[in-house]
Amino acid sequence: MAVGTSSFRDSVDRMFGHAAGLMDLPPGLEEKIRVCNSTYTVRFGVRLRGAIHTFTGYRSVHSEQMEPVKGGIRYSLDVTQDEVEALAALMSYKCALVDIPFGGSKGGLCIDPRAWDEEELEKVTRRFTYELSRRNLISPSQNVPAPDMGTGEREMAWMADAYKRLHPDDINARACVTGKPLGLGGIAGRVEATGRGVQYALREVFRHDDVLKRAGLQGGLAGKRIVVQGLGNVGYHAAQFLSLEDKALVTTVIERDGAISNPQGINIDALRGHIRATGGVRGFTGGDYREEGLLGLEDECDILIPAAVESVIHADNAERIRCKMIIEAANGPVTADADEILKRKGVVIVPDMYANAGGVTVSYFEWVKNLSQISLGRLERRHEEARARMLIEELERISADTGTNFKLAKGFKDQFLIGADELELVRSGLDDTMRETFGTMKEAWMANRNIDDLRTAAYVVAIRRISTAYGSLGL
Ligand code: NAD
Repeated sequence: MAVGTSSFRDSVDRMFGHAAGLMDLPPGLEEKIRVCNSTYTVRFGVRLRGAIHTFTGYRSVHSEQMEPVKGGIRYSLDVTQDEVEALAALMSYKCALVDIPFGGSKGGLCIDPRAWDEEELEKVTRRFTYELSRRNLISPSQNVPAPDMGTGEREMAWMADAYKRLHPDDINARACVTGKPLGLGGIAGRVEATGRGVQYALREVFRHDDVLKRAGLQGGLAGKRIVVQGLGNVGYHAAQFLSLEDKALVTTVIERDGAISNPQGINIDALRGHIRATGGVRGFTGGDYREEGLLGLEDECDILIPAAVESVIHADNAERIRCKMIIEAANGPVTADADEILKRKGVVIVPDMYANAGGVTVSYFEWVKNLSQISLGRLERRHEEARARMLIEELERISADTGTNFKLAKGFKDQFLIGADELELVRSGLDDTMRETFGTMKEAWMANRNIDDLRTAAYVVAIRRISTAYGSLGL
């Protein structure tokens, strides 16, 4: 990490303070919203490889104006209380911004997941779940974790199973975590959701010429040069969708062991395969390798997508950043100092709170699916198909009767006749959320000349919604 994690928390607080200072909040409310309500620290021992190993975990609850509170669980040796609290605060603001009825929370376990095998990780995860459950820090109605860095479907499946064993009479037990595998109560499209949300966010930004103009960009996403840091869950999906579906060129990918560059565009699937096989990007033949990976952040490009860890763009390298737009797929990749510098340079920053909200949005759909105990579209799909078929058949009958020889375009009929399945509904809900939220953010940005960027606008919208919720609760 480029700078200490405490600066990540300072950055979140400073950005929050900047936005709150532009609002007319009742006395004391700014402080009430800013502070983290509680953080639980747990140290537990697990017998592994013939010895007892002690692990430290955290679960922070930032705000409870809406319940359950929601936020991922991170597995990393860099996890600290400060980091978890900053991430929990961001979750509160993110949920409010995208209008999802959750409060904000976050968890972390100090562990290097690559240092332990699957069986060992399962033992540790189940024990962590037990510790969280004892304090209602995992519960369908109060606190719902999700994947984050170092965790994924596998860990969520273990957590859901551990919770179910502890609460066999809870009919909603599956809703205790989101990001589960499909067969265990997950939802189609959750794994790709955050990266997909980054794509939808960029597509929406590219529909606004005035925003593009501020960044010195024009046209569509096709051919735009993109630098991505971190080819994990979020970075891989964003890079893959943007290159395959929007024809953008991913010209640099930065990973832990270096960077790969190719001005013609990197084959993302091939690089992902190489990382899986070898553990890093070194040795990949589809581009030039550099050991000093972080310098890749300074490569000239149109769009920079930090999708790894926080604080990677800071006061010391911000001046050298040569992109026109940054879309923060990771949480907190730009420090408050760097934010000021980049703003001065005219770089448009699409803030994390919005850019990576796809994960929590689809998690919300999964939670709703779990509570309603039925998959999305199961009731309507065939009905929708039958109505579409009726319409087509009627048009064909009219065409035959009137001799107009009316013909539908090739492929249209088949596509029109397909009722929406769960994946399509999830993508539609996600796209809608990203579009609507951008509109709300932009409106706030344009409405007040003191709101000088999208990040401040995002904070203003989030703080306004949280303060309204506190107001309704009589606080
Ligand atoms: P992940 O563990 O799947 O992937 C992280 C990737 O970044 C890995 O490939 C790792 O090797 C790489 N990486 C780590 N440190 C690096 C460094 N210093 N330099 C270069 N590469 C580095 O994690 P993820 O789930 O993709 O999360 C990435 C970011 O997105 C985090 O900030 C996370 O909080 C945020 N996020 C994730 C989700 C989600 O749904 N997974 C949702 C919202 C936000």
